[in-house]
Amino acid sequence: MVEIGKFVNEIEVFLRECVYPREADWLSKPFIEIEPELQALRRDVKARGWWAPYLPIASGGAGMALLDYAHVSEVLGTTPYGHYIFHCQAPDVGNMEVLLSHGTPEQRSTFLEPLTQGLTRSCFAMTEPEHAGSNPTLLSTQAVRDGDSYVLNGHKWFTTGADGAAFAIVMAVTDPNAAPHLRASQILVPADAPGFERVRNLPVMGAPESGWPSHSEVRLLNCRVPLTNRIGEEGAGFRIAQERLGPGRIHHCMRWVGIMQRSIELTAKRALYRETAPGEKLAEKQAVVHLLADSQADYLSSRLLVIDAARQIDKSGMHAAREAISLIKFVVAQALGRVLDRAIQVHGALGMLDDTPLAFWYRHERAARIYDGADEVHKNVVGKAVLRAAGGKS
Ligand SMILES: Cc1cc2nc3c(=O)[nH]c(=O)nc-3n(C[C@H](O)[C@H](O)[C@H](O)COP(=O)(O)OP(=O)(O)OC[C@H]3O[C@@H](n4cnc5c(N)ncnc54)[C@H](O)[C@@H]3O)c2cc1C
Repeated sequence: MVEIGKFVNEIEVFLRECVYPREADWLSKPFIEIEPELQALRRDVKARGWWAPYLPIASGGAGMALLDYAHVSEVLGTTPYGHYIFHCQAPDVGNMEVLLSHGTPEQRSTFLEPLTQGLTRSCFAMTEPEHAGSNPTLLSTQAVRDGDSYVLNGHKWFTTGADGAAFAIVMAVTDPNAAPHLRASQILVPADAPGFERVRNLPVMGAPESGWPSHSEVRLLNCRVPLTNRIGEEGAGFRIAQERLGPGRIHHCMRWVGIMQRSIELTAKRALYRETAPGEKLAEKQAVVHLLADSQADYLSSRLLVIDAARQIDKSGMHAAREAISLIKFVVAQALGRVLDRAIQVHGALGMLDDTPLAFWYRHERAARIYDGADEVHKNVVGKAVLRAAGGKS
């Protein structure tokens, strides 16, 4: 049993000593160039027994409950590299959870085991350029049975981490005549299967990333995989996707809370250092003091809401906590945007550079209000629950 407070303190010291000082250099280079150095740190993390703490002990992790892992995710979120170094990065974490819960013994030994050990990476391909991702029942990628195979045809984009991934979990329609939520299945597709084509890495807010932080456009052209590559029952794709999204949203939100904490720390340090007149520090300006207070309020209120949602999931399950999960998804994503914007303002021109992680987060985390359900979709869930509680029907 891990003592969570001690664990969190130890990894915080490790990040401050071994990771923060390297960030500026890493941020100036493509991911594939810095990967060897990150791999060395991953080996170190494994040797210290800190590897993939949310994984069950039998799979090489620490078997943490969601609430405990939330605290770990917060600390790892204080640097853009924390989750990767500790092997908790999206989308691998979600894919591992899916294979642990629904994978066959063969799927686990072929796909899951190398992934849990960090020997491979993976990606999750659901969203399509031609259809609104906010309503994934509209997706049109097809997996048609042919003997003992599925033949997949379709077009995906924003497939995070596809560059260098060993396999994708592809969401594809297996029965177009079924009810919308029973049409699709999740199918394991090796990245080297003929017909699985990574078209390009997308230029998200600037130049395209390579490797794990990349987001790719992918085409499936008569891509054949065995029927045994389907995860769970045919038509269970959306049910399984829903299961992965609950904990995934806690992981993301706590990571964002970690980003807010570090951004405030960087802002306060900058304000204490920067002189705008001889002997007069930025920290003495009331405008800056108030801005820090606003950010602290965003950070601490977000933190409490996420911890409360994680408690509800641990106690009553995902379904019972769905409104709490939707609430944190839009509240924390918006708070994050405000905190990053204020932090950059106080840093002035320095905030526009990758000399601190602020600009990286500003570019990459605007998407927080879009992926895993756009703000408006989650507001619909919360607002309708309020109406139901007041006697409404929907
Ligand atoms: C950085 C990043 C990484 C991603 N990674 C992955 C990945 O690994 N795998 C994957 O499959 N997908 C991934 N996605 C895709 C993501 O899941 C979709 O972008 C998301 O579901 C929204 O779909 P869309 O972009 O098609 O927007 P649309 O569905 O077209 O919606 C556009 C906008 O319309 C509004 N809107 C939508 N529905 C409603 C509604 N019901 N009520 C009111 N307003 C509404 C919202 O403002 C929304 O932002 C990623 C996206 C980003 C940006």
